Amino acid sequence: SLFPYDVMVIGAGAAGLMCAALASGRGKRVVVLDHSDQPGRKILISGGGKCNFTNRTVTPAQYLSANPHYATSALKRYGPADFLDLMKRYRIAFHEREHGQLFCDNSAADIVSMLMSECGAGGVEMVLDAKIGAVTGDGPFRAATSRGTYEAAALVVATGGLSVPKIGATGFAHTLAGRYGLAVVAPRPGLVPLTFTGADLDLMRDLAGIAIPAEVTFGKTKFREAVLFTHRGLSGPAILQISSYWLTGQSITLNLLPDLDVQARLLERKAQRPNAQVETIVGELLPARLARALVERAGLLGRPIGQSTNAALAGLARLLSQWPLVPAGSEGYRTAEVTLGGVDTAGLSSKTMAAKSHPGLFFVGEAVDVAGWLGGYNFQWAWSSGWVAGMSV
Ligand code: FAD
Repeated sequence: SLFPYDVMVIGAGAAGLMCAALASGRGKRVVVLDHSDQPGRKILISGGGKCNFTNRTVTPAQYLSANPHYATSALKRYGPADFLDLMKRYRIAFHEREHGQLFCDNSAADIVSMLMSECGAGGVEMVLDAKIGAVTGDGPFRAATSRGTYEAAALVVATGGLSVPKIGATGFAHTLAGRYGLAVVAPRPGLVPLTFTGADLDLMRDLAGIAIPAEVTFGKTKFREAVLFTHRGLSGPAILQISSYWLTGQSITLNLLPDLDVQARLLERKAQRPNAQVETIVGELLPARLARALVERAGLLGRPIGQSTNAALAGLARLLSQWPLVPAGSEGYRTAEVTLGGVDTAGLSSKTMAAKSHPGLFFVGEAVDVAGWLGGYNFQWAWSSGWVAGMSV
């Protein structure tokens, strides 16, 4: 190559480091640029410091994208087993939690060290604390930065999405894509707590801190995991999952007792223990504070179940098993674990991650319109897409 570098990677996060490690391992001269003074900051804070780095089972069904097939090829070529091989090579201990989620035993820092070692072995030049200015050219690409101007035959954009601006997230990839004529699917926060207003919020505030297993539905999509009441609304894994599907203005449905025919149970108790308070009966199924709040909302507080009409009990049963709730919004990018939308995959090759219109320009990781469920899927997409680009540059 005529240029000092074969590959310039912008973004020293999960996807960028994986791409740089791979490309340098193939003998490419690679430079990585990042405005942060520390690589992999999101890896470090992920999974409560233990990084849920992948999932035992990963399929395209666990991803959201305007093109649900886009991720298939990359996930197949570099899947969880491949990343586990790398982890084992570095003797990084890990364990499995519920739903196949894999976490480090020790620390997320082990993963950053591993990727940095791989980059080091390939002679990758790491330029941190570099403010990126104008990016121009089209093979060679030039990036003017606060640490000098860099030039390379190929450019890999791995700057992630908009989630958690406090640790350096920007819309750099989306802006750059636009400048190169690529479409961007409107970004929005995903895997994010939902907020409420009015009477719903008052009720949720009173219940803040209570977590219960539940089923949450939006349209045809359902998740069965914990739901947490907070002082702003609802959170917990089931809510984070559904938040990626939820559309503004529409309702989600909460089933607090998914394993029970609630109406049948209430009628049964009415016959068996007519003098018991409705609140007591429901308190046998749910945490007392939650039971009381919902019985109150159904207008049955202080009422013996035997003196409650079947219609009123049916109303209570609906509240417990099909509680429709319209979120006012979400907590936004401040706390969102992922950004939905991003560089439109229609303009990219699923085999290489390169822009169809600019063969030297690659987009990987969360910057692209591929977002995973909670459970290690977002890191797996970062590894898979970074690996594919690293193989292709
Ligand atoms: P990132 O890892 O975000 O890396 C982007 C890099 O680009 C950063 O180093 C950033 O400094 C740099 N950058 C950004 N803008 C610029 C710019 N303008 N100029 C220069 N550099 C720039 N996913 C999971 O699978 N499992 C988890 O356990 C998990 N936990 C998470 C916890 C939290 C709190 C958050 C916020 C996210 C979590 N995620 C998790 C999601 C996961 O972290 C991301 O999907 C993943 O890091 C995306 O990788 P990436 O390489 O595309 O982007």
